Amino acid sequence: MSFANIIGQDRAIRVLHSMLEKDEINGAHLFVGPDSVGKRSVSIEFAKAINCEKKGFDACEECISCSKINSLNHPDVFIIHKEKESSFIKIDKIRDIIYQASLKPYDAKKKIFIIIYAEDMNEESQNALLKILEEPRDNQIFILTTSRVSGLLPTVISRCKLVKFGLLPQAQIQELLIKRHGFSEDEAVLFSHMTLGSPGMAVAFKDKDKIRERDKMLNDFFFRKRAMFREEVCDEKKYSDLKESLQMLLFWYRDLLISKFTEDKTIFLNMDRIQEIFSYSARFSAEKIERDITSIINTINYVKRNINPKMALFNMALELERQ
Ligand SMILES: [Zn+2]
Repeated sequence: MSFANIIGQDRAIRVLHSMLEKDEINGAHLFVGPDSVGKRSVSIEFAKAINCEKKGFDACEECISCSKINSLNHPDVFIIHKEKESSFIKIDKIRDIIYQASLKPYDAKKKIFIIIYAEDMNEESQNALLKILEEPRDNQIFILTTSRVSGLLPTVISRCKLVKFGLLPQAQIQELLIKRHGFSEDEAVLFSHMTLGSPGMAVAFKDKDKIRERDKMLNDFFFRKRAMFREEVCDEKKYSDLKESLQMLLFWYRDLLISKFTEDKTIFLNMDRIQEIFSYSARFSAEKIERDITSIINTINYVKRNINPKMALFNMALELERQ
C-alpha cells in the first residue's frame, strides 16, 4: 500500500519519513493516538519502508520483502498482540521477542517488532521488555502502538521516540470509507459521524451491522422493556463486541446531552435518528444524562481492564434506569 496510500495521518508520516531519510530509525518508537485511526497500518508501512530492497524511503510494493510483509509472512517482522481470550499480552510472548531479538535478522536489514495495544502488557511484561529497549542493537526496531499512554510504565515511554496520531477530519474519513471500504456516500456520512473520526471503528460498525444492534438496544431500553434491557445488557455474549456496544450507547447519550443545548443537526453522531434523540432527551434532565454518561464511561473502563465486567454492566443498567 505504501505511505502514499494512507489517507490522513500526514503529520505522523512526515515524522517517519524524516527518520528514514536521516537514517534515525533505530531503537523504539511509540505510536500514540486514538483507537482505530491507522497506527497499525502505518506501523506496517514503516516496516516495509525500512526493509524495502529498493531503499526509496517508502515501500516499493514489488520486492520480496514488501510482498512478504504485505502477506504478514516476513521472518523478521513480528506483530505482537494479546490473544482474544486473554486480558493481557502474556509474558511468554515477550520472552519470545527477547529470544528473537537475540538472533540476527534472517534475510532483512532490520528485525522489527510491532506491539499492538502495548498497554496490554502487564507490569511484568513491560519490565521484561524494558531490558531490550534499554540496550537496543543496530538491527532491531520496536514499534509500540497505544491509545492509552497511562497504561505504560514511564520507564518504557522514556525509551521510545514518540509519534503522535490524531483523529481524521470528517471529509478524509468519508473519502477513505468510500474508496477503500466500499461504503455508499450515505453510509460514509453516517458511520463517520457515529464513530467520532475512527475509520477502523466505522468499518467494524458496518461489518457487524451495528446500526441494527444499536436500534435493537435503544428499542429495548426506551420502549419500556427496561427489565429486559438489564438482562440483555448484562449478558456479555448478547452483543458481538461489548466495548463497541458500550461505545455506541455512549455516543447515543452524548447526542442526548447535546440536544439539550443546540439544534445544530450537523454535530450529532446518530444523524439518522435525530427526531428520536430530541424526543428521548426531553424525558431526562441534563444532569441525569451527564450522570449516565459518567456511568457508561466508568463501565467502559472496567470492561477494558476486565475488572468484573458483569458487575459493572449490572450497576450501569441500574444507574441508567434510575430517574
Ligand atoms: Zn520493496
